[in-house]
Amino acid sequence: MDFKEIIRVVPDFPTAGISFKDITTLLKDGPMYRQAIDALKERVAHLKIDVIAGPEARGFVVGAPLAYALGVGFVPIRKSGKLPYQTIEAAYDLEYGKDRLAVHTDSILPGQNVLIADDLLATGGTISTAVNLVRQLGGNVVGAAFLIELDLLEGRKKLPDIEVISLLSYE
Ligand code: 5GP
Repeated sequence: MDFKEIIRVVPDFPTAGISFKDITTLLKDGPMYRQAIDALKERVAHLKIDVIAGPEARGFVVGAPLAYALGVGFVPIRKSGKLPYQTIEAAYDLEYGKDRLAVHTDSILPGQNVLIADDLLATGGTISTAVNLVRQLGGNVVGAAFLIELDLLEGRKKLPDIEVISLLSYE
């Protein structure tokens, strides 16, 4: 089966005019979920990666299994107030709304090669904030990997110096 056949598209969620790509229908299908992570693993095989960082929450369901498959560490980038130790934070705009992301100050060592992973690239606001946080810690961002890229929102333009890898494109 094609990945696009299994990803559910929900019109007008969470607000009118947004066509939400619902990956829960992919995640619940074991063989397809594994196939998607394996395909991303192949697409990032040329990169030297020490650690994967992924933003809450859907970045965890892509980044963590990819880290496991590659045998590298995983760093959660979370909403403000969730991480228990010292953090650095940054504010960002979403496709629909605003939020703050945080990461532990000791989660990435200076000079480590970091792949950032999330389920979907829309405007690029989330990922460019994650990139900023990783760079503030001295990490070297080697790429950004997604299951889905929304081409019309041109998120990759916000990541001009980063290799952007996505399995699927939607308009
Ligand atoms: P951006 O910051 O690139 O505008 O939005 C991407 C972030 O919002 C990702 O963390 C992603 O999980 C979430 N997001 C925005 N639109 C969608 C969507 O249609 N489907 C899913 N699954 N996530 C979305």
